[in-house]
Amino acid sequence: MKLKHWLTLSAALMTQTVFAKDLPLMDMNVQTVAPNIYTVIGAKSNPTFENKGLNNNLSFIVTSDGVVVVNAADNNWLARSLHAEIKQITDQPVKYVINENGQGHAMLGNGYWKDQGATIIAQEKALALMNSHAQADFEGMKRMMGEYAMDTRIELPDETFADSRTLKLGDTEIELIWFGKAHSPGGASVWIPSQKVLIAGDIAYHQRMIALFSYSNTKEWLISWENMEKLNAEIVVPGHGDITDMKTIREFTVGYLSYMREKVGELIDDGADMTEAYNIDQTQWKEVNVYDLLWRKNASRIFMEMEMDF
Ligand SMILES: [Zn+2]
Repeated sequence: MKLKHWLTLSAALMTQTVFAKDLPLMDMNVQTVAPNIYTVIGAKSNPTFENKGLNNNLSFIVTSDGVVVVNAADNNWLARSLHAEIKQITDQPVKYVINENGQGHAMLGNGYWKDQGATIIAQEKALALMNSHAQADFEGMKRMMGEYAMDTRIELPDETFADSRTLKLGDTEIELIWFGKAHSPGGASVWIPSQKVLIAGDIAYHQRMIALFSYSNTKEWLISWENMEKLNAEIVVPGHGDITDMKTIREFTVGYLSYMREKVGELIDDGADMTEAYNIDQTQWKEVNVYDLLWRKNASRIFMEMEMDF
């Protein structure tokens, strides 16, 4: 290649690099959950380039002594976008970021928040999941998001908790609670007792199919759910789907899991093999988002989990 061409090419590459840092941020639809509690409801679908990995809910609580963000977001571009929205509401700095679990869209934005001086907190089992999964989640995110991956890097939480932890910022008390294993082994739910608001995380699904992974535990999930219900939350921000209440997410989450576990249990009692789990009639959830992508996977996951339990 001629020197002139090489110079033109490298200049173009440099421009591109500069441009990537200046990508316009996402204009997010911030909803008020309750006074001083806000959320951005993610797309009720899988992560795609179009939704930039905003397919879970990103929430924040404004206090007189700083902001607590729930979920770091899938990448630094989303984290920056969320921060720009927060700055329109308050001048308070972001002091804590809670990772609802160890999945990419809960924690890959950690680096951005850490650079803002925030302390990142997760449940201890979520940290273990990050240790085994964060690298793959990170590579997958980079492939999908291209230049939007920006300066995203893997940063693990600064602190973990086991059963619960209370954060006190000004007059606001915020409890981080682990109700037990569920969608993830280390789900962190965030409870604001004075307002009876629960930012539940992935233990609660609304308006989209539950996604089950090798580390999900549907048996424990139903037990953990009972612990969560004892709070008598009045307003619930689920991990996925719109702001709602306990009764509604119970239908979406417990309703589906109990039905599937009952049907799979019958199959196992009859000595059926896993392929027969695909014949379980799940069509009552046919209109729910990402049904087509997940119904088969869920049937086989629940079968494998319950078969091991027998
Ligand atoms: Zn999720």
